[in-house]
Amino acid sequence: AKRKGRNTWQWYHGAGVKSTLDSVFLRNELQQALEKDEFTLHYQPVVDAVSGKIRSVEALVRWNHPERGMISPGDFIPLAEKTGQIVPLGQWVLRQACREIARLNASSERMLPVAVNISSLQFLRENFLTAVDDALEASGLPARFLELEVTESVLLDGAEPVIALMDTLSSRGIRVAIDDFGTGFSSLSYLRDLPTHKVKLDRSFINKTLTDRRTAAIVQGVITMAHHMDMVVVAEGIETEDEQNDLVRRNCDLLQGYRFSKPVPLEVLAELPDRLPGI
Ligand code: C2E
Ligand code: CA
Ligand code: CA
Ligand code: CA
Repeated sequence: AKRKGRNTWQWYHGAGVKSTLDSVFLRNELQQALEKDEFTLHYQPVVDAVSGKIRSVEALVRWNHPERGMISPGDFIPLAEKTGQIVPLGQWVLRQACREIARLNASSERMLPVAVNISSLQFLRENFLTAVDDALEASGLPARFLELEVTESVLLDGAEPVIALMDTLSSRGIRVAIDDFGTGFSSLSYLRDLPTHKVKLDRSFINKTLTDRRTAAIVQGVITMAHHMDMVVVAEGIETEDEQNDLVRRNCDLLQGYRFSKPVPLEVLAELPDRLPGI
């Protein structure tokens, strides 16, 4: 989102009159991209910390722009959240991920669950549950193979409706994980009240655990606490063997990061071995 040129990408982050123009421009571009099928999903494996076995994959959206090439979600998701277009885009991602992983599972011996990132705006929409049901039904993916990743920001307007929705989802067999745990503003008591089975520790913690004692204490604390609440912990953004070893030593359950695999297209995912011991 920093490119200059005729369309001045950088305007989007600016304020004032220009940013109004920009959101109109971006709204159109995103709308067209959805219609023209310019979005695509990559999948990143999540591995068992001890065995390196692939346990699930996370779907991550990319915008395959005809002129600008692959645009990463960091450059358009925040904007799509501003314009509200994250809702139709998120719906597309949900349906596409279910469809692709159902197809992959049908053609292989390996049965992989897929995790889909859900924006708070999308999660808190009245018809979200219907959208999830539709995606599962249209794809044939069993509910237990779908996991939704939400961040602590879903709690900003109060916890009760969120807890109710998570209860309904989990009664259908759909699991909900807390993404980017520890980066938001919510209190620890939320974790106690949320019917969730998994927390994902943000990369900003992981890449500091080896050098910062206080960060290490938070990481260890979250892992221990989550285990006492019968939750599993995923460490995101593992890049080095030292980071891997450190998290294994701290009893982290699952690992995700470039050390094992970058997010890859479905065809590449299909060819990955069952175990990714780390490069
Ligand atoms: P996230 O959900 O925390 O996803 C993890 C991000 O970390 C991904 O970036 C992934 O490619 C990156 N990553 C994984 N391992 C490593 C590593 O070892 N090192 C480094 N440096 N990075 C690593 P990506 O794909 O660019 O996605 C960025 C964010 O965009 C995601 O963060 C998520 O918040 C959002 N996003 C992506 N796809 C979707 C989507 O379909 N819907 C919604 N609502 N948000 C999405
Ligand atoms: Ca995520
Ligand atoms: Ca995350
Ligand atoms: Ca993140």
